[in-house]
Amino acid sequence: MSEEFSAESVLVHAGGRRIPGEPVTPPLVPASIYHSAGDPVPGRGYGRESNPSWEALETALGEVEQASALIFASGQAASLALMLALAAERKRVVLPSDGYYGARMLADLLRCYGVDPVHVDIGDPSAVRAALAQGPSVLWTETPTNPLLRVADLAALGQAAAVADAPMIVDNTLATGLLQRPLDWGAVASLYSLTKATSGHSDLLLGAVVTRDPELLASLRAWRSAAGGIAGPFEAWLALRGMRTLPLRIARQSQSAQAIAEHLAAHPRVNAVHYPGLLTGPALALAARQMPRGFGPLLSFELDSAKAADAVVGAAALIVPASSFGGVESAWERRARWAAETAPPGLIRLSVGVEPAGDLMTDIDQALEVL
Ligand code: PLP
Repeated sequence: MSEEFSAESVLVHAGGRRIPGEPVTPPLVPASIYHSAGDPVPGRGYGRESNPSWEALETALGEVEQASALIFASGQAASLALMLALAAERKRVVLPSDGYYGARMLADLLRCYGVDPVHVDIGDPSAVRAALAQGPSVLWTETPTNPLLRVADLAALGQAAAVADAPMIVDNTLATGLLQRPLDWGAVASLYSLTKATSGHSDLLLGAVVTRDPELLASLRAWRSAAGGIAGPFEAWLALRGMRTLPLRIARQSQSAQAIAEHLAAHPRVNAVHYPGLLTGPALALAARQMPRGFGPLLSFELDSAKAADAVVGAAALIVPASSFGGVESAWERRARWAAETAPPGLIRLSVGVEPAGDLMTDIDQALEVL
């Protein structure tokens, strides 16, 4: 689609085909095999190679970042394909010490295949530079981080990666391609759990890699076809349907999250609140430079203890107690209930949905009354 239109308009139409008599919305195509005789039609030899419903979603994801996209069965399946594709020439994976713990767990599982995970504070570019100088590496980043919402300097990280000749990956799940464009800051690929805000309705698991590098794309495609971490066509169809309204949802969620973060910061029972919109000075300027359209649906806040956090999570009437974020329904959880999580014990991660912010504040306030 022409670049003269905004991402909002592109998302409404992407993946559809303007052919007289064809449906306006891309159809769901459940298929494991295609008519095929003689030399197979590329990509249509067998259902593990491609599917029209995947391709409609991939077109939409690619158009948001002026790049190409490949979808996978989950965010973790996309991460695994990326680590395998990139680790062939570089054994070290430098990754955030406080980001999504699933990435650290995955890199740890790959140790016995020669991968060497190195945890760094990616908010400290000099520590990242030192880690990258140790040998051929992949730089795996995430900003804002889940669940502490720390903002890393993508320009500085991109520069460090370029100097070290290390491909930089940005897990952009939290911001989505609409709020933050990692490829413009030097990343070779944006990684997504589409399970979260991109699809937005808490009814599927999917992942994606978005890149402008044709070699990486070919390698990821080969890994996907051979290893079989593929999406179901129905999930892909649902995700594209959800993505049509991503601009509306994420704008409202970002606005409500900002209001709720400010509300929590003034609450006497809350010890700390983490949200990029609460930063000040140069840190806020950096966050706004990287995410000029809003800071997304996720925030976290700290109470005195795990017991207090569990009591508050259990006392909500509107907010759902659940793990995940970016859905239309607000959800929260005490994050350290997961064994591999490194968040403080009394930290609650709140995903702000599309309910009116006033209702959410009423629910939060009455839940905090249990303390
Ligand atoms: N990246 C981030 C930031 C996540 O929060 C998650 C899941 O929670 C993933 C990746 C993994 O995605 P999935 O659950 O779709 O495998």
